[in-house]
Amino acid sequence: MAANPWLVPITSLRRGAPGARREEHRVGRLGALAVGASVVPADSDVAVDAVLEWVGEGVEVAAEVRAPWRGECRRCLTPLEGELRCRVRELYRRPTGREVDEETYPLGDDHLDLGPLVRDALLLELPIAPLCREDCAGLCPTCGVDLNSGPCGCPPPAGDPRWAALDVLHGGGEEEGGGAGGGAGEGAGRGGSA
Ligand SMILES: [Zn+2]
Ligand SMILES: [Zn+2]
Repeated sequence: MAANPWLVPITSLRRGAPGARREEHRVGRLGALAVGASVVPADSDVAVDAVLEWVGEGVEVAAEVRAPWRGECRRCLTPLEGELRCRVRELYRRPTGREVDEETYPLGDDHLDLGPLVRDALLLELPIAPLCREDCAGLCPTCGVDLNSGPCGCPPPAGDPRWAALDVLHGGGEEEGGGAGGGAGEGAGRGGSA
């Protein structure tokens, strides 16, 4: 089994004066990360350029993280892919042992583990509801055709036909104009109270 690519030795850094720095460039895998339908696939390489700085009470890590991601448009379900790229700056400190410190990452005696920092950064960066483009037209709710490739044959999504039926009941002989307007108003009112 290959060595964990995210473990960085810090012994020499800790011997230095505060302000001592060390650069690290690492490439490795983290396992699959997912937010909704958006994922960093398990077999993809994650690249990290990091600068570690000894700050006396711990190590501050500033890192740029890059990884491929895949997902689908939330409206038309077209497969999407791209590259995530984000910057993070976090502090690693010795665990105090008493309380769980959620603001910092744990610092080992002679190593720190970039893995949790990189994983958290990518989970934050993964798009929750991506679009193939800002004005994606989505799928027709009736027939499922991708409306980005042109209109389908369905009638426009006018009001719910059940309201139209009620209009006929209430309005008696009223046709088109008045009936449709009343239906829309009634529909909006009921939606608001629900
Ligand atoms: Zn789309
Ligand atoms: Zn349709």
